[in-house]
Amino acid sequence: MNEADSELAAADFAARGYELTDDLKKADAVVVNTCTVRQQAENRALSQLGRLEGWKAAREGRKLFVIGCAAERLGFGTLRHKFPFIDGVIGAKALDGLSEELDKHLPPAAGETTPSNIFNSPLSAYVTVMRGCSLKCTYCIVPSVRGPAAFLPEEEVLQQVRRRVEAGAREIVLLGQTVNAWREGERRFEDLLDSISSVPGVLRLRFMSPHPIYFTPAWLRAYAENPAVARHIHLPVQSGSDRILKSMRRGYTAAEYLGTLEKIRKADPDTVFSTDFIVGYPGETKEDFEKTLELVRRGRFGFAFCFKYSPRPGAPAKDAPDITDAEMRARLARLLEEVKKTGGGIFAERIGRIEEVLVESARRGKSSSNFNCRLDRECAPGSLVRVEVTGTAKTELSGKVLP
Ligand code: SF4
Repeated sequence: MNEADSELAAADFAARGYELTDDLKKADAVVVNTCTVRQQAENRALSQLGRLEGWKAAREGRKLFVIGCAAERLGFGTLRHKFPFIDGVIGAKALDGLSEELDKHLPPAAGETTPSNIFNSPLSAYVTVMRGCSLKCTYCIVPSVRGPAAFLPEEEVLQQVRRRVEAGAREIVLLGQTVNAWREGERRFEDLLDSISSVPGVLRLRFMSPHPIYFTPAWLRAYAENPAVARHIHLPVQSGSDRILKSMRRGYTAAEYLGTLEKIRKADPDTVFSTDFIVGYPGETKEDFEKTLELVRRGRFGFAFCFKYSPRPGAPAKDAPDITDAEMRARLARLLEEVKKTGGGIFAERIGRIEEVLVESARRGKSSSNFNCRLDRECAPGSLVRVEVTGTAKTELSGKVLP
């Protein structure tokens, strides 16, 4: 979400005639987009701001803006008190007001521009379909800093998709905190996937992050029938213990989560899953943690993002973890090892399969199952090719392009 918001911010600058630069010395303005989901992320953003004091003072007229979730949580007063050289603060809930805020400091916008793909391949574009979240997972600060769920109207989403395709995108990545909860009147997420995949030029659709409670039989049918929807799904689980899942207010049990994976695999057995885990949530015992390891073995994930629990002010569960940091690190290491083991197996199993690959450069592309893929001959970037996987190297598949 922050990457997509950074792209929107860059578009606001582009509309004022600014260009992106990686060279701080050349920059006339800097936007620090902040995250507060873990304390460490917020600390890093704040130290980045501290380091920019010298940059700001080195040339008159330079502007510094802070946006995002930590900006929302801390607010203008706190940030300006700590860093008096900041020009503007725009919190995550007020991002729509960024353009107006920039108008106060910079020449006004000459027109609207389409965000460019700063973080992805030029062929892959983010499109945000919802903002905020109305669920109440106890460890999570997102509802407090981004507000309740608000869905973008379908027509607005389609307009964005068309603009991104005109600018060269072939893959659209739909974003939202509970992206598959999207709805508008009678329209549901599967309808949105169908209408976006009918936009000429859209070859592939991804979405992040769905929530296990929003997969319906209608969605499963649509998934089975719509090959444009990528065969990789990132489905956060957080824990394998029912006791911890209940305490986190996730709304499902481990068996229900695994049941959802099974239903999706039934709709397309080729689907690759990834997930998120939190270790050391308050009350997590050794037995709870063993259940998480068991879920890794049964869920068979291609990869997982694993984090140590970080208590957040503003989240319902503010308690510190019950275990020592050493124990938390030990659990994290064991979890990562287990994920690596099953992930390695999933990767190796791709050999011999036929993958649909979106070509990104002459000899490289990304499979629908989200693996980087090396091709045995040159293909046109932006095209879809069928590839027989003949080998793996580090994190990449290699294969033969089929006629
Ligand atoms: S679903 Fe839960 S974890 Fe995800 S943003 Fe909403 S409250 Fe946070």
